[in-house]
Amino acid sequence: MPVDISIVVPLYNEEESLPELVDWIERVCAEHGYAHEVIMVDDGSTDSSWNVVKQLSEEYTTVRGIKFQRNYGKSAALNEGFKAAKGNVVITMDADLQDSPDEIPELYRMIAVEGFDLVSGWKKVRHDNALTKNLPSKLYNGVNRWISGIKLHDMNCGLKSYNRKVVKSIEVYGEMHRFIPVLAKAAGFRKIGEKVVVHRARKYGVSKFGWERFINGFLDLLSIQFISRFGKKPMHFFGLLGTLTFLLGFVATIYLLIGRIMGGVDFGLTSKVSFYLAMTAMVIGTQFFLAGFLGELISRNAADRNHYLIEETLK
Ligand code: UDP
Ligand code: MG
Repeated sequence: MPVDISIVVPLYNEEESLPELVDWIERVCAEHGYAHEVIMVDDGSTDSSWNVVKQLSEEYTTVRGIKFQRNYGKSAALNEGFKAAKGNVVITMDADLQDSPDEIPELYRMIAVEGFDLVSGWKKVRHDNALTKNLPSKLYNGVNRWISGIKLHDMNCGLKSYNRKVVKSIEVYGEMHRFIPVLAKAAGFRKIGEKVVVHRARKYGVSKFGWERFINGFLDLLSIQFISRFGKKPMHFFGLLGTLTFLLGFVATIYLLIGRIMGGVDFGLTSKVSFYLAMTAMVIGTQFFLAGFLGELISRNAADRNHYLIEETLK
């Protein structure tokens, strides 16, 4: 039987929330008559979350479970959930009841009827700590919008819906769950939308992420942008930088040398600051080139160097 919606729930030590969450999801899906599945991915919980998932899966035929041997992180959990998903539409949702299952129908409709590739939730009114989360998050999202060119207010929202093609085309690893829209855009999916969603205060348990998320997140965004632009042609980045820096140093050195020769036989060049600057520029330029060549070697040998997403073929 075809599955309309796969609901993927990454969870790490969320034992108290799970029964309430699954009951609620089931209620909403039953009301709308969806053929659905709930994929609970236990990211190496150390509490009794997995036992709760087992019980729920006995109670509801729709509940499936995957358990990691240890804690690998939210990205890994989402990636496994995406691989397992059978639905035409895939919805991700945090396990802590901060996301409301009442959002499912509209998120589903925007993909299935309106034809969006990806719809991201926007926690317009947040119920988290204002100083450690809400304010930095606003700033951070502003930087994200500027660097990635994707106009989303809340890119890291756990509540999102996807056309199945998207989740089967991307690989979420490291801490890249914060930038799934960037990954989707890099894979060629352009119809990215946004829906204001209800956000609730955490009822049980504690948040699993601290302030470091903003620094790590920023670094990850730079990596993602770099890889999607130059991942397959690193020399285009390093080569340009290297050429410019080297040439600058080279021209400056020649200029200094000529100046010296014209000025007399005294070769006391090394007493000049500009001489050292020119030498340094040549050395750094050469380093950029080496980085570019190494990058090319690595990308030529990468297993996915000829991996393309084919949308359609004829005959
Ligand atoms: N989570 C996970 N693995 C981790 C950390 C978090 O699967 O290593 C899950 C967590 O159980 C929750 C979701 O990711 O379902 C979001 O985490 P959390 O609520 O702690 O983040 P916050 O709401 O504070 O941003
Ligand atoms: Mg949360």
